[in-house]
Amino acid sequence: MVRAGAVLSCVWLLMAAANAGAQVKDGVKPFVKEDAPVLVLNHVRVIDGTGATPMEDQRIDIENGKIARVQSAKLRNAYPPNAKVLDLTGKTVMPGLVGMHEHLFYPTPGDGPGRQNMYGEMADSAPRLYLAGGVTTARTTGSVEPYTDLALKAAIDGDEAPGPKLLVTGPYLEGTPSLGPQLHSLTGPEDAARTVDYWAEEGVTNYKAYMHITPEELKAAIDAAHKRGLKITGHLCSVGFTKAAELGIDDLEHGLVVDTEFAPDRKEGVCPSQRGPMTAMAKSLDVDGPQVQAMVHTLVEHHVAVTSTLAIFESFTPNRPPLEREQGAKNEMAAEAWSDFATTRAEIAERGESSIWPVLLKKEMQFERSFVKAGGLLLAGCDPTGYGGILPGFGDQRGMELLVEAGFTPVEAIHIATQNGATYLGQQDHIGSVAEGRAADLVVLDGNPVAKIEDVEKAEMVFKDGVGYDPAKLRASVAGMVGIR
Ligand SMILES: [Zn+2]
Repeated sequence: MVRAGAVLSCVWLLMAAANAGAQVKDGVKPFVKEDAPVLVLNHVRVIDGTGATPMEDQRIDIENGKIARVQSAKLRNAYPPNAKVLDLTGKTVMPGLVGMHEHLFYPTPGDGPGRQNMYGEMADSAPRLYLAGGVTTARTTGSVEPYTDLALKAAIDGDEAPGPKLLVTGPYLEGTPSLGPQLHSLTGPEDAARTVDYWAEEGVTNYKAYMHITPEELKAAIDAAHKRGLKITGHLCSVGFTKAAELGIDDLEHGLVVDTEFAPDRKEGVCPSQRGPMTAMAKSLDVDGPQVQAMVHTLVEHHVAVTSTLAIFESFTPNRPPLEREQGAKNEMAAEAWSDFATTRAEIAERGESSIWPVLLKKEMQFERSFVKAGGLLLAGCDPTGYGGILPGFGDQRGMELLVEAGFTPVEAIHIATQNGATYLGQQDHIGSVAEGRAADLVVLDGNPVAKIEDVEKAEMVFKDGVGYDPAKLRASVAGMVGIR
């Protein structure tokens, strides 16, 4: 007995010694730049995610995956024992993004008349590109392969694959027609509740209602999710924002542009075609007028969040973003995916003059500012859908740039993309800000986004639970894959 115990403790000591040198497993090791268990990021500018003024020349101590201290580097306090110290003069540290519209799928190339509307699960590229873009927590916000999303979550949580901490949303809660043959169409309120219950048992923690859900189904889904303490968002169409808020929804995706409640000749509970309401909105809807402001007030009163997805709206706007910027993500895209994207982009540019999108994009930005001013919780996400070109991580960074174009300060845009998501998820004590005791989920930027918001693209290292990943290696590992896998 004694002898067996001695052998066991020797084995334990050997394992402990091995762990001290290597926090990370083989599945993520090729992408890791820093894995010292005690690390000091010295002489950094900190944008802490709370909306506070950035602090110059700070020192962040990371111990065992958590932020142990944030203090002025000028104090020259002693380093913790065995710390590895990185001099990061000139760099900025901000919280890892809490991405709130982060699908793990992408439009499959080859779409066209007579073909099925299909989305390919990007099990390899999406998690890596989110992490490379600084997203350390991602709510998936609608799934076409929920079991794949759940398996990816398990692999990432077990450090067997690189990626952000995933909060998996169940399959779209959609009526008829559905988004495509990959998705179920609900058959009524009972089916809505049954679907919510089933996926909760399978492990999803969030839900998303979609465009053709009936008000009765939406109500049943909200009640079933809330019964389990889970949240539900919606990209709605058949149900207006005001009505959804009254039914108890927690979040609304995309914002004003998809709200059909102000459309002329609208029938309650029926999703009209997109074109009519959007044209009317571009032509005559006044964001500062009493109708929209009453809706904003209702959302705030009912504590309904809104998720900003400006990058996807921008992609419908002629010649935006500049093509050079899109080229930045070309290397990650499959040739066919790039060609599909470039063709549609050119078609949109040709119809430039008659496009309603320049006005809609502006009105959406105005709405988001107005919603925040009224006290609303604005979240931000990528939404890598549409006709392609919005890639995981890249779209999140672009979203912050567009929030600044909308009139938010860079610090406010970062606050929206980090702490606000954490607050919505009820995880604000763990993630979303740079503070003592939080998870060391941090982005090191080679630049200063306060002076130039585009510097959010210059992620040099992305820490998740204190392990520093190399964005360049993550991206290089999925070159040519977006659209395929
Ligand atoms: Zn979506």
